[in-house]
Amino acid sequence: MSKETKKFKTESKQLLNLMINSIYTNKEIFLRELISNASDAIDKYHLLSLSDDKLEKTNDYEIHLEVDKKKRTITITDNGIGMTHDELIANIGTIAKSGTLEFLKNLKNKDMKDSDLIGQFGVGFYSAFMVSKKVEVLTKSAYSDIAYRWSSKGEEQFTIEEADKESRGTEIKLFLRKNEEDENYDEFIEDYKIQSLVKKYSNYVKYPITMEREKTIPRLDADGKEIENEYDTIIENETLNQMVPIWKKNKNEVDQKELNEFYRSQYYDYNDPSFTIWTNVEGLLTYKSIIFIPGKAPQNLYSDKYEKGLQLYAKGVFVMDKCKQLVPDYLRFIKGLVVSPDLNLNISREVLQHNRQLDKIQKNLEKKIINELSKTLKNDRDKYEEFWKEFGVNIKYGVYDNFGINKDLLKDILIFTTANEEKSVTLKEYVEKMPKDQKDIYYGSAHSKASLLASPQMDVLKSKGYDVLVLKDEIDEFMLQILNEYDKKHFKSINQGDLDLVDEKEKEDIKDLETKKEDLLSKIKDSLHNEVDEVKLSTRLTESPVCLVSGEGVSFEMEKVINQMPGDKDVKAKKILEINPQHELFQAIEKVYANNPESIEDYANLLYNQALLIEGLEIKDPVDFSNKMVKILIKAANLGDTDGTNSEEN
Ligand code: ADP
Ligand code: MG
Repeated sequence: MSKETKKFKTESKQLLNLMINSIYTNKEIFLRELISNASDAIDKYHLLSLSDDKLEKTNDYEIHLEVDKKKRTITITDNGIGMTHDELIANIGTIAKSGTLEFLKNLKNKDMKDSDLIGQFGVGFYSAFMVSKKVEVLTKSAYSDIAYRWSSKGEEQFTIEEADKESRGTEIKLFLRKNEEDENYDEFIEDYKIQSLVKKYSNYVKYPITMEREKTIPRLDADGKEIENEYDTIIENETLNQMVPIWKKNKNEVDQKELNEFYRSQYYDYNDPSFTIWTNVEGLLTYKSIIFIPGKAPQNLYSDKYEKGLQLYAKGVFVMDKCKQLVPDYLRFIKGLVVSPDLNLNISREVLQHNRQLDKIQKNLEKKIINELSKTLKNDRDKYEEFWKEFGVNIKYGVYDNFGINKDLLKDILIFTTANEEKSVTLKEYVEKMPKDQKDIYYGSAHSKASLLASPQMDVLKSKGYDVLVLKDEIDEFMLQILNEYDKKHFKSINQGDLDLVDEKEKEDIKDLETKKEDLLSKIKDSLHNEVDEVKLSTRLTESPVCLVSGEGVSFEMEKVINQMPGDKDVKAKKILEINPQHELFQAIEKVYANNPESIEDYANLLYNQALLIEGLEIKDPVDFSNKMVKILIKAANLGDTDGTNSEEN
């Protein structure tokens, strides 16, 4: 095969440009990225060799670094899986994951420690060009007899040609850039710099990262005794990384600082974890695990690129990087590892998916984590609130998911903002503070606590002194529906159905009044042309003139959420317009109706639109609303002109 020249795909080209013109100020991370690719490639070989007899079984893995000071090159060699011709093109000539470029461009505008994100987005290889004017990849796949050399200056194109290479694996050679005014690339050919970068970023890579180093040792005489003042220089292949897995150490030998370091380097985070949960279980099923809860939610937690999972080691040997089965969906944000001698090594991924031992470990870990969270909720509320800010939504999703199978486990670690309390409130605390006559737990959906407090539906609850949970997330109402009750108290929406908060006598009175005003109410309903399903007199309003509530079942919030979901959905909440019979406005309308029944249509319209606005819903025809408003305002002003005593008479 002769030399092929290929152009980078447009997206890759732009990405290269972004990289080189350094949105990434932290150039030194290139080494971490290349070592991590080498380590991935060894993982791949190792895992394949377990089930493929054509591949030699070995534990002789190594990532070797070599620095040539004269030629100004750094070479990173691994004996991993290697790449075929087509893989070379697919993996490092293209950026397969669409949307990556968009994402990275956006980062540019944000104040973000960008370099830490490179690894998350599958573009680590390109970071080599931040320090190199040319990159060569010499590689031979474990499945191929032919080796290839890929080469690029990171500009328009790259070349591929056949090459000589004995053994499987990949060798990446970086030709360092020249120093510039404000950039020193020379430092990367200093041994000590390379060593310190390995320590800093790759200390816990599970394969030896080696480098040849000159060592001076005393010269020995024939009897093996040291000769004074005579030395030999030898070259030794030294392992730079610590490699001893942290979990092989004793729990009480490892301090939090070391755990944090381990976490940051393993899981590409620049924040320390907020929780570290270390478990040793011995018995029928023996395993160790270290679970971390990140301090901040990862950028891509809610994108479909995010993969949940824990690293899995069996008999001390690495089996899998993201074992999904160990993590319930709602805890997808946790990181960490599980080590178990009980798991069979030669199991394929398919078998792992139905592995009862893994299921058991998952259940145990889940309990352990929830337990830790609930302890923190009790003992360190501030810390828990920090956690909740980042991951509370996931916990709520956990209550809702799987038809509420976990609701009993999770209900006591939910916290809420409420109308009356400054601080967050658990359901237990809410119930404990309920006045004697309060039967249900009240909630209202609102953008903020302030808007809930201002909403007319709060009138009667304020007057009773009942507290109300403020719901802000889309999942909230769905979650409460699944939860159904807490401590035998049911959840009741203040924006929905009948609140049943007034005594029998009052109820009777309203019913009577409703019968009396039936004519007016049905006229109002007719004027609204099926916009509402019902118009009635309210028992929940004391201060406000009107409000809009929904019937039992689907609420406005749920209607909104469900209709946003993909697919053909047309869910409708029942709309009820409630009018406060005590309010002056109602009395005014009664008067209008008595004197001039025709104009009731405008009033009905204004009333309804006002209720929509208060509810934060859209008005169908804002111009018409405004015109009607103007009309009525002018009328009112004219009344004042022609008959100054009018308002006092009433
Ligand atoms: P990521 O590692 O997230 O996939 P990178 O840009 O770092 O993204 O690497 C792109 C791809 O190139 C890798 O997924 C892998 O398929 C391939 N690759 C890179 N380095 C090596 C290597 N040393 N050995 C084998 N394949 C490699
Ligand atoms: Mg990578």
